[in-house]
Amino acid sequence: MLDTAAIVFFAVTGDFRWSDVLTFAALMACGAVCIEATRRLGMPAGVSRDLLSAWWLPAALLLPPLYALLAPIPFQFLLQKRVRATVVYRRVFSSAAIGLAGGAASLLFHGTVGDPNALSRGDGVSILMAVGCAVLFTVINTALIAIAAHTADPDSRWREVLWDRESLLLDVVELCLGVIVSIIGGINLALLLLALPPVVLLQRTLLHAQLQAAARTDLKTGLLNAAAWQREADTEIVRARRTGETLALLIVDIDHFKRVNDTYGHLVGDQVLIGVADTIRNQLRDYDVVGRFGGEEFVVLLPRADVTEARRVAERLRFRVGRMAVPADDNMITVTISVGVAIMSVHGDDLIELLAAADLALYRAKELGRDQICLPAATVPPARRPGSETAPS
Ligand code: GH3
Ligand code: MG
Ligand code: MG
Repeated sequence: MLDTAAIVFFAVTGDFRWSDVLTFAALMACGAVCIEATRRLGMPAGVSRDLLSAWWLPAALLLPPLYALLAPIPFQFLLQKRVRATVVYRRVFSSAAIGLAGGAASLLFHGTVGDPNALSRGDGVSILMAVGCAVLFTVINTALIAIAAHTADPDSRWREVLWDRESLLLDVVELCLGVIVSIIGGINLALLLLALPPVVLLQRTLLHAQLQAAARTDLKTGLLNAAAWQREADTEIVRARRTGETLALLIVDIDHFKRVNDTYGHLVGDQVLIGVADTIRNQLRDYDVVGRFGGEEFVVLLPRADVTEARRVAERLRFRVGRMAVPADDNMITVTISVGVAIMSVHGDDLIELLAAADLALYRAKELGRDQICLPAATVPPARRPGSETAPS
């Protein structure tokens, strides 16, 4: 709404110049080449990043605000038609968010720097202002997208949707590219041809990295998939063995999950699965390795955790998941989990042994009535090993 109103306002009040239209068309053409050049790589599902700001930031800095408001529209249209069709409202929202961010940056830049050509003359103050406006553009855009992401998934942490180190680095790269392209585009439009290949290459590299990350992730829950978890867990185990640190492995299985599916259907079952995955992730430290092992089973590796810590974490997971409720029809669905715990050096020395031990422990937890945490049964009767930590909880 606000975006449309701003477009109409600036279209009615702004001056029209053919040179502006030409610059706009050149920037849009560069963006379209970028999109086409990376199209065949595909685009990972969910929120993905690109470097298209390299083209719409110059639209904001070199041209009147109207063009910054318009710039995202053809790009989002191309992305929708040529790269990945997604729900239309998401594209409309992205267009509006980027448009408003660009419009604000453009207004500020032209409001403070009278002559936009000063940028291409290398005027220090103008360049500084351009960087400042690019920061404003990034902040507004990130904030609007974060609000949308948080509204779509209220359980997500603000820190996660707002920024992480990787996306901050990308923001800086986009900002630098945007300012550099603005300067050379202002000198001579033909110079955009020199900027195009490096930007295309950067964008391809970025997509490649995103696709690699997507290949590690379980689509339904967003946790690591089994293969990626196994790789990361292996690395942690090798490290723990080298440093002599303790380490624990948990296998978490939802109790009677089939009943949830049978009673409420698979779609609701999926929501419960996602809820359990989120609850588990939110209860763990950043360096714990958590994955979906398959079906309704999760695996957690706790570096530096001894038996007391592992039990404490497992108990917390059991407690939190037990209190989680997923709405379905008029009901609130709750589930419980059983957890099998295995400790490095006590129950196994490598990943296979630890998994086997935790699986046995899980089996015991199920046998003992579910909704509980178990360690593997002692291979030697506990009476002969006083102080053994392998008794059931
Ligand atoms: P137990 O307490 O012994 O673990 O009983 P359970 O019913 O949880 O165990 P079982 O292994 O018999 O059933 C697991 C169910 O999980 C069966 C399968 O339909 C369901 N399941 C596996 N993956 C998914 C999924 O991605 N979505 C949904 N909705 N259900 C799934
Ligand atoms: Mg189960
Ligand atoms: Mg199971």
